[in-house]
Amino acid sequence: MNSVAVIGGGAAGMMAALEAASRGAAVSVFERQSRVGRKLAVTGNGRCNLTNLNASPRSYHGTDSDFAAPALCRFSPAETLAHFRSLGLLTVAEPDGRVYPLSDTAGSVVDVLRFAMEAAGVCLKDSCEVSALKRMDAVWRVDCPEGAITADRVIVACGGMAGERFGGTKKGYELLEALGHHRTPLRCSLVQLRCDNPGSRSLKGIRADAEVKVFCGAKLLASSSGEVQFTDYGLSGPAVFEISREALSRGGTVVTLDLLRSVTEEELTGMLLRRAKSTPQLALSDVFLGTVQNRIGRVLVSSAGLRGTESVASLTEKTARRLAGLAKHFEFPVIGDMGAANAQVTVGGIRTNEFDPETMESRLCPGLYACGELLDVDGDCGGYNLQWAWSSGRLAGMSAAGV
Ligand SMILES: Cc1cc2nc3c(=O)[nH]c(=O)nc-3n(C[C@H](O)[C@H](O)[C@H](O)COP(=O)(O)OP(=O)(O)OC[C@H]3O[C@@H](n4cnc5c(N)ncnc54)[C@H](O)[C@@H]3O)c2cc1C
Repeated sequence: MNSVAVIGGGAAGMMAALEAASRGAAVSVFERQSRVGRKLAVTGNGRCNLTNLNASPRSYHGTDSDFAAPALCRFSPAETLAHFRSLGLLTVAEPDGRVYPLSDTAGSVVDVLRFAMEAAGVCLKDSCEVSALKRMDAVWRVDCPEGAITADRVIVACGGMAGERFGGTKKGYELLEALGHHRTPLRCSLVQLRCDNPGSRSLKGIRADAEVKVFCGAKLLASSSGEVQFTDYGLSGPAVFEISREALSRGGTVVTLDLLRSVTEEELTGMLLRRAKSTPQLALSDVFLGTVQNRIGRVLVSSAGLRGTESVASLTEKTARRLAGLAKHFEFPVIGDMGAANAQVTVGGIRTNEFDPETMESRLCPGLYACGELLDVDGDCGGYNLQWAWSSGRLAGMSAAGV
């Protein structure tokens, strides 16, 4: 029977531990926080979007985007849901493919994994940070506050740097780098954007439905649509998270918002001009009345360099076109992100060409495995990152058990 040390009790580590134990290995999980699954418990705004039925290798990014394919094919979303069902978790799929626990509570996912690990005899070592890993002849030495513990195989599942408040750390990269592995540059994704738009501050707290696009010069890099939240530093909300990877992929990107998706620029120009005729006494600051949120309307007017105190009657066709253009392409030059503390996922990680995608075993150190966000693989927004944690974790657990 192989002994397996799993470093990190997050989504990938718990899945790996469970798989290895179910195949007969003696498994210990080392978790530096006071309990396992802390980040998992806050995912999906506390609901845990645990997978997406549309997940396929195309939903993933990294230096070698094909690396994720074997694990995802072996442990697909359907297979993952069947596995969770066997652990007693009921789930529900939304029309866009996002899957949540039926209880609508992320804690349910943590609970079924924790109880299944306990039932399978996994030894959980909470508040136990691993400081070093060392190969000693046939076994691995795991250094932790309890002293030096040995194991036949080690699975490193320490996650990435994103979500610092819930356990995101660079410790996993350091453990593997000390063993000769390398990592690509790290940055944040699925994160709020800091933007240089003087109007942002006065829009703080407002939510709007918009089509969001990212441009670099004239080149469209990405688009999404849905809820956008204005903040004092820039933009947040699900639609912004979705395009954040591309918005941060290079310097000089600009996010544009179409705040009135259901009307064309031409139609909007006509509506504004009709308003100028029908209610000439109205202040220009209220010209967008009934179309966008009032505060947004006022910021659009001031962004166009117009005096809101003037009457709507002063509106010319040229200025109406300018206002309509602004509402359809409200620009937010991107100047950064809100950092690892607020990000949901890390772009970059340990180089995947140093691991075998069929087993997740290191090509440099036999008996060493890695899985989850620690590796240079990141997924789109919508359950894809947890699916990668489940698939890669199970594959690592299966391989480390030696079956
Ligand atoms: C707020 C938030 C919401 C999210 N929502 C979703 C969502 O709804 N759907 C989705 O698909 N993805 C979501 N994600 C992303 C997803 O949670 C991660 O991609 C996923 O948890 C990665 O799993 P992991 O096991 O690789 O890492 P983690 O879950 O981060 O687990 C790694 C664990 O290793 C431990 N650790 C690190 N170093 C050591 C060490 N040296 N010794 C011992 N223990 C160590 C850490 O404490 C941590 O518990 C969200 C992320 C955040 C931050």
